[in-house]
Amino acid sequence: AEEEELKHEIVSSPSDKVYSFLGSSPDGLDQNEITKRLEIYGLNEITQVSKIPIYQKFLSQFTHFFAILLWIAAILSLIAKMPELAWAILAVIIINGIFSFWQEYKAEKATEALRKLLPYKVKVIRNRELVEVDARYIVPGDVVLLSEGDRIPADIRLTESFELQVDNSVLTGESRPIRKTSSAYSKVNANWIDMPNICFAGTNVVSGNGRGVVFATGMRTEFGKIAHLTQVITAELSPLQKEMIFVTRVVAVIAISMGILFYLLGTFLAGLSQLQGFIFAIGIIVANIPEGLLPTVTLSLAMAVQRMARKNSLVKKLSSVETLGSCTVICTDKTGTLTQNEMTVKKIWAFDELEVTGVGYCPEGKFLKGSRNLSDEELKKSYFWLLLTSGICNNSKIVYEKDNNRWRIIGDPTEGSLLVMSMKSKFINEEIKKWKRVRELPFDSRRKRMTVISQKGDDIIAFVKGAADEIIERCSSYFKDGEILPMTGKIKSAIKQVNEEYARDAYRVLALAYRPFSNDVNLFMLEVDEVENDMIFLGLAAMIDPPRPEVEEAIKKCSTAGIKIIMITGDHGLTAEAIAKKVGMIKGKAKIVTGSELDGMDDSVLNNILKEKNVLFARIAPEHKLRIVSNLKEMGEIVAVTGDGVNDAPALKKSDIGVAMGIAGTDVAKEAADMVLLDDNFATIVNAIEDGRAVFDNIRRFVGYIFTSNIPEIVPYLAFVLSGGAIPLPMTVLQILAVDLGTDLVPALALGAEMPEKGVMEKPPRPREERLLNASLLIRAYGFLGIIEAAACMSGYFFAFWQTGWRPGLKLIGSGPVYEKARTMCLAGVVTTQIGNGYAWRSHKESIFRKGFFTNRFYLFGILSELVIISIFVYTPFFKGLFGHRPLEFKDWAFLFAWSPVILLADEIRKFIARRRKSHEGG
Ligand code: ATP
Repeated sequence: AEEEELKHEIVSSPSDKVYSFLGSSPDGLDQNEITKRLEIYGLNEITQVSKIPIYQKFLSQFTHFFAILLWIAAILSLIAKMPELAWAILAVIIINGIFSFWQEYKAEKATEALRKLLPYKVKVIRNRELVEVDARYIVPGDVVLLSEGDRIPADIRLTESFELQVDNSVLTGESRPIRKTSSAYSKVNANWIDMPNICFAGTNVVSGNGRGVVFATGMRTEFGKIAHLTQVITAELSPLQKEMIFVTRVVAVIAISMGILFYLLGTFLAGLSQLQGFIFAIGIIVANIPEGLLPTVTLSLAMAVQRMARKNSLVKKLSSVETLGSCTVICTDKTGTLTQNEMTVKKIWAFDELEVTGVGYCPEGKFLKGSRNLSDEELKKSYFWLLLTSGICNNSKIVYEKDNNRWRIIGDPTEGSLLVMSMKSKFINEEIKKWKRVRELPFDSRRKRMTVISQKGDDIIAFVKGAADEIIERCSSYFKDGEILPMTGKIKSAIKQVNEEYARDAYRVLALAYRPFSNDVNLFMLEVDEVENDMIFLGLAAMIDPPRPEVEEAIKKCSTAGIKIIMITGDHGLTAEAIAKKVGMIKGKAKIVTGSELDGMDDSVLNNILKEKNVLFARIAPEHKLRIVSNLKEMGEIVAVTGDGVNDAPALKKSDIGVAMGIAGTDVAKEAADMVLLDDNFATIVNAIEDGRAVFDNIRRFVGYIFTSNIPEIVPYLAFVLSGGAIPLPMTVLQILAVDLGTDLVPALALGAEMPEKGVMEKPPRPREERLLNASLLIRAYGFLGIIEAAACMSGYFFAFWQTGWRPGLKLIGSGPVYEKARTMCLAGVVTTQIGNGYAWRSHKESIFRKGFFTNRFYLFGILSELVIISIFVYTPFFKGLFGHRPLEFKDWAFLFAWSPVILLADEIRKFIARRRKSHEGG
């Protein structure tokens, strides 16, 4: 009942009463009050509930496919009366389970931490000032400003609304935009969500803007109340992870069939006993199953995601990392991504050009005609309405930051620059304050215009700004030096010509216009097209937006990496072309396709254009962007596309990698995207692609590394069975496990952290269908490096016998100290060759001598770890006894270490030949 009363009060009171009811005012809360309320109501957060409990995750490590296989092996060993082996396998299950759990836990924590990095700022009025705060610090009573694309941070009663429409689909599932108004309603609807003057946390502003006061935050919002129902987040596996699962299963099946086959061969052909045959089968199976591979892949993706976040690209799903690596086309905006989005109006034109001086957003500067400073009188006569329109048709604000001693804008930089420009004429400031806003027709990227209708006494005027071509067509007269004259074709083409000249010089140009209304019209009944019509043209404002310095280099990288870049912008074609040339995206003449040309274009024509070089799309609306992305995808491209507005969301979703702007982007775009650029910078996308490619390479590195050591684990068994037992088993199952779950672990992880190889951006994108485990990787691991490793281990094994006088032809004794030492040599041989092998896998083509032996510190640590572990296994009494090892002497180690450079140099020769062949092909 109390809640109903509260609802009633909030809905039915007029604005001023709502404020006082919530202990607030249109000026916002002060700091003391905010601190107090934060203490009472807590942070504005949805607390996570009902996730899969941690113990369940832990247990699942012991019940998956491999674990079950190992359980079976353990039980079979018990049945076969080999309790030591059963215990050992049990130990493997446990070690493996704990390690995998730890890796997955770490990966999850890493991705969770990223979510916190996602910027989520809200514009609020506090203590009379407009400030941006983190959404978590919003409290009841806060006065929040809403604009297009904002995610609504809390439950809000509106006190002002300009064409505000919201998308309530998170609450209702219904995505049709709903109009919201600020007037009071006498009655609370049966359906609270439908109340027209309430906006709810978690929903989005589709268009328009508004203002309101917060009455519920965090878990007390409607969204918070239903949140626990929807929070079972199902972690989707990435294609790579799925592939890994598939690969490991295939390997397991092969291993099991091999085990069975060799068991039969051994017992029937080689005359092994049942027991020997059985040990043998288990050995083969355990040797081949890559136990720890999947969690290592997951962790290495997660580490990549963290690394990328440090470089300003926030990847929201692990799977995007690999998609990035195979990206073939980037469709990019211009403003803010290729350019700095720091606009400064340099020139204004009202049938005469003025130069505007000053730096950045500081509202100090002069208006020069030639080199002469224009007086206020002259300025008022010819430019008064232009300056006034710039200041009034504007939602931005400039603020002075004392700490940094600089001026900053809140809002859209295009508008910010116009506001700064108008404020450079001091008299306009006073004038702006006299006008009261009646209605706003918000900017949208289809119309490319924005209008504010304001009133001063009896004067009612619509102030309009927008893309010049759009404005000119809607003007029936023009203002020149204090006079209003009828528009003619000649004047129009004169204006267009100036517009194009500016555009060609890379200026972004906006046109300004106004239209007076008599005060008997009902302004609220007028449609947008009726308002923005029959206007008086005022002039043009040309602003510069310098390219980002890093972009040129990034574009060069894309060209060597075989990635195509297509600019898709809302701006004028000539401005777009000028910027594209400045950053090196287009060489020679550009093919400019405009949105209206696209409308009448067949898909087949469009697709042919998309295949061309030097194409750019200008004056584009968001649905065009969606069409371009869809067509590129149909053509088999892997497309990354950038976006920032609400209307970009469909294209972001449609693309393979949707990239949202972290600074200029709306919350809606950030939600729809797969990746968020914290610095809005094009170069960051290219860095992310480079990282994506590197991750794929790295996963191949450690998979190759791990697979290589399978061969020296299998060969001893082959030797044993094919010799019919004449060569006593050179490596036991326990020893194999010592490699797979001991010495190999840290070096494999280290290979996953390898820096991108030189040249990752010098080859074409990886084809979508290319598998992680392709033939060349398997041949290199199994057929080449693995064979050398096996040779090393077997030679070490025989070396131990040789030293005691054994010669070929004599019988090998399969027990006693010599045999034990020979087995120790075999295991130590895997470790010493894996050192060289790891270096070999650190690059696929590049020579390690160029890459450097000490450039991956983590790998050095990996080597240290394997040496420490093998020493523990060989020399400490417990493990010595467990494995049946014998201490090795200096000359034994010398013999085994001699193999490390052998394997590395052999691979160096292979790389050399591969490089030669490549350069022949290339040349
Ligand atoms: P990009 O797509 O490269 O970011 P853009 O910022 O020019 O380019 P839009 O934001 O869709 O793309 O703007 C399209 C056009 O609309 C601009 O070129 C400009 O002429 C006009 N415009 C932009 N912002 C405003 C605004 N706040 N008010 C009025 N017109 C605007």
